[in-house]
Amino acid sequence: MMTPSAYAWTEGETLAQHFESRGVSRRDFVKFCSEIAVALGLGIAAGPRIARALESVKRPSVIWLQLQECTGCVESVLRTADPTIGDLLLDLISLDYNHTLMAGAGAAVERAKQSAMAANKGKYVLVVTGSIPTKEGGIYTVVGGRTAEDLVKEAAEGAAAILAVGACAHWGSVQAARPNPTGAVGVRDIIKNRPIVNIAGCPPIGDVITATIVHYLTFGRLPAVDREGRPLFAYRERIHDQCSRRAHFDAGQFVESFDDDSARKGWCLYSVGCKGPATFSPCPIFQWNTRTNWPIGAGHPCIGCTEPNFWDTMTPFYGRLPNVGGFPVEQRVDTIGAALAIGAAAGVAAHAAATVFTQIRRRKATHQVPETGPETENDDG
Ligand code: SF4
Ligand code: SF4
Repeated sequence: MMTPSAYAWTEGETLAQHFESRGVSRRDFVKFCSEIAVALGLGIAAGPRIARALESVKRPSVIWLQLQECTGCVESVLRTADPTIGDLLLDLISLDYNHTLMAGAGAAVERAKQSAMAANKGKYVLVVTGSIPTKEGGIYTVVGGRTAEDLVKEAAEGAAAILAVGACAHWGSVQAARPNPTGAVGVRDIIKNRPIVNIAGCPPIGDVITATIVHYLTFGRLPAVDREGRPLFAYRERIHDQCSRRAHFDAGQFVESFDDDSARKGWCLYSVGCKGPATFSPCPIFQWNTRTNWPIGAGHPCIGCTEPNFWDTMTPFYGRLPNVGGFPVEQRVDTIGAALAIGAAAGVAAHAAATVFTQIRRRKATHQVPETGPETENDDG
C-alpha cells in the first residue's frame, strides 16, 4: 500500500519528472494514458495527447477529507493486489492531506493542511469521502475540535473542484438511511458554489476516480455528468444492459436460491434481489481487484449502490422489488416464466412474447438513460 510520504513531490516538479524519479518508463506512462483514454471514452488514440498534457502538470495538490464514513472508499482507491501506476491515485497527485494515510497526526497535520490550502488556494482538488452530520450541531463527526460541516465549508472555499467520492459523500449513504439519526447529508447539500462530481458507489471503483482526476488535469475541468452528478464516461450505461448474465434474463432463466443448480449454472440473479435493471454503473466493464471480477460475476446480486439513497430505495437487498427504481421488470419476469411453462407447443408464441418484451425493454432503456445536468459539458476528446 502507498502512503503520501513514500514518494513525496518536490517543489516545482512536473508529473513527467515525478514519474522519472519513480522509475516509470515513458512507454509505461503512455500505455497508462491510453488505458485511461479508453476508460474516458476518448479512444486509445487520445493516449499520447493525454500523456503530453499530463507531463507538464506541476504538483497537482489534493486535499482529502474523510468525514462520517467507514474508510471503505479509501481502501477501494488505494489497496491493490498488484499495484501498477494505473491503480495508484497517488502517482498522479500530491496528496497534501488525508488523515488516514499521513504518517503524522494531531495538530501538526492540521497545520500542514492549512499551509497546503493556503499555498494552493483556488487550485487544489478537494476529495471528500463520508457524509456530513447536521443534527445536534454536527457533533457526530469532529476532527481537531471542528465539525465536519465546518471543515468541508472551509476546504471547499479554496477548491477548484470537488470530488464527492462514494455514496456517503453525495447522498449520505447508510448513515442517512431512515430514520437518519445524525442528520447525515452529502457535500452537495452543504456546498452550492463549486463544481462537484459524484463518483458514485459504496465504495466506488478506484479506476473511475483516477480517470476523473486525469480528465481534470488534462482538460482543466471536470467530466460531463448526468443529473445525479455522476461522470457520464463511467455511469452512462445500466448494469443490466452490460451484464454477462443478461442472456439468461432474456431466456427466463433465473436463480431462485443461492445454492440451487441454476446458481451453479450462472443464471440471472433478478429473483434473488438483483437491482441491475435500475442501476447505472460501470462495474461490468471496470470490474474490481485489478479487473478480476465483479459482484454479479461472483454470484451476488447488484445492490444498486450507485443510485440515490440506495439503503432506502434498494432494500431489502435480497428481495424482488416490484417496479425497482421505476423499471417494471417484475411483471415481465413472471410473464416470461409463465410463457415458458406453457411448453413446447407454445414455443413460437413464447418466443414472440419474449421478442416483444425485449423491444419494450429497449424502448424503456432508451427513455431511462440519464439526462445531462445543467453543468454538463461535452468532452473535447
Ligand atoms: S460510500 Fe460506502 S464504502 Fe465509502 S465510506 Fe461510505 S459506507 Fe464506506
Ligand atoms: S437482473 Fe441482474 S443478474 Fe440478471 S441480467 Fe440483469 S443485471 Fe444481470
